[in-house]
Amino acid sequence: MRWENLTEKPAGGGDSAPPRDAALFGTDAVTTRTFDTPEFRGIVFHEVRARTIVNRVPGASRMPFEWTINPYRGCSHACVYCFARSTHSYLDLDTGHGFDSQIVVKVNAPEVLRRQLASPRWHGEHIAMGTNVDCYQRAEGRYGLMPGIIGALRDHANPFSILTKGTLILRDLDLLVEAAEVTDVGLSVSVGFVDQELWRTVEPGTPAPHRRLDVVRQLSEHGLGCGVLMAPVLPFLSDHPDQLRATVRAIAASGATSVTPLVLHLRPGAREWYTAWLGRHHPHLVRRYERLYAAGAYAPKWYQRRVTREVHELAREFGIGPSGPGGPRRIRMREPEPEHARALPEQERPPGHTQLTIL
Ligand code: SF4
Repeated sequence: MRWENLTEKPAGGGDSAPPRDAALFGTDAVTTRTFDTPEFRGIVFHEVRARTIVNRVPGASRMPFEWTINPYRGCSHACVYCFARSTHSYLDLDTGHGFDSQIVVKVNAPEVLRRQLASPRWHGEHIAMGTNVDCYQRAEGRYGLMPGIIGALRDHANPFSILTKGTLILRDLDLLVEAAEVTDVGLSVSVGFVDQELWRTVEPGTPAPHRRLDVVRQLSEHGLGCGVLMAPVLPFLSDHPDQLRATVRAIAASGATSVTPLVLHLRPGAREWYTAWLGRHHPHLVRRYERLYAAGAYAPKWYQRRVTREVHELAREFGIGPSGPGGPRRIRMREPEPEHARALPEQERPPGHTQLTIL
């Protein structure tokens, strides 16, 4: 296993900060653990002490955000299409089941964050979380890193955003409300579809879509506007007009402040894993996917435009937006530029997590 050569650029690390391409963790600082509880059975945790936790997005000039915090690598939510899978290969870990079950935990994330935020080199820029893997995945229930992270951002009145599929974010509701009193907080939940059968097979480790939408509802009830990233829309599986309608209707009912559709990307790592899944569960679709994604990782523009147009029309019909029931509090989600997500280097690309723009 390789713990060196991860290319994340630290912020505010002072003279002692490691240069780009230096190791993020000392190799002597890796502790491997397993927990014999049903929730964590089969999952291996690699605890590391990170040298930095606020990292610059490579090529950030083209990004909607420049700085990120990723307390975990790998994600037990195990979405088959997850295009963060390739990041596991940087650690010599498997991008398939290994990505779902070998979780790197930066156990000192809150203390490192406080140090970086206090640095005279740090100027209080917006920090995005959930941009690589989900910071409210199951591991967070045991390691509890996010309260310390949000608390540090609150204490420094540092603006931030979170994108998640995890209901665990509700544990930190009070902290989020406190933070929103002193700085801009952007919240977004990812719900690509509401089909229960599809969810069980393609997002097996995530909370059900209706539970995620309940998160949107509860955040909204506490005055925290929350957008929904409708991602990914899966060709031939969740893109029928009736399915799009059911999903947008449910999103509207949750009080979301916005809905942003994003069609499935199939980048290396995710592509092989997803195609194998497709062959097992929907073999008749394999050829159609090969044709649709013949040009690379993205579906054709005409297809993306069609889905986007339909979702926008439905959003208007169901009244999603600033004037809808959720209404924004401090943050609005802006319609993203697709090129932003395409420009985002793989190691920072989340599955359906990239097209997040904070105003
Ligand atoms: S898509 Fe998001 S929630 Fe799903 S496995 Fe990837 S990082 Fe986790």
